[in-house]
Amino acid sequence: MKTALKESNVITRWACPLCGGSTWKTNYTVALVDDDGEEMADCICQGCMKDGPEGAALRMRVEAERLRERADRLDAMAPEVAAIAPDDWTTVERAEDFSREVDRQCMEYEAEADALFERRRNADLRAAADARENTAGLPVYDERGELTGFVKDGDMPF
Ligand SMILES: [Zn+2]
Repeated sequence: MKTALKESNVITRWACPLCGGSTWKTNYTVALVDDDGEEMADCICQGCMKDGPEGAALRMRVEAERLRERADRLDAMAPEVAAIAPDDWTTVERAEDFSREVDRQCMEYEAEADALFERRRNADLRAAADARENTAGLPVYDERGELTGFVKDGDMPF
């Protein structure tokens, strides 16, 4: 048995078939192949690669123990799940109704937020306009840099 590097055009994280960890996002994968060249597993993680053959084997034993414990939990829980009353079981239809209601509420909140933003923006614009009304306007200077007067927004000479 040995490992083999392979090119990959699917750059994503994969679940490591040995330790259950996660690979990095890379343009390669590392497979485990037997002596006949048959691929036993693909997408071995960098953690297993770094730990070497003996370290990877230890990671595999730890993962196997975790899977055994998970299998025991599932076996123990299955009868209790089987006993759940139909009304206490979330159906896909109920979940989809819930999802649509969440979407509807989000759109409602967004519309309220947009309206609030619009009211505040209008109030800000009114306040800015009032402030302009109450000042002398922008200063106007001649070519020598002498102040010749003030103009308001509407009477700009340029
Ligand atoms: Zn691994």
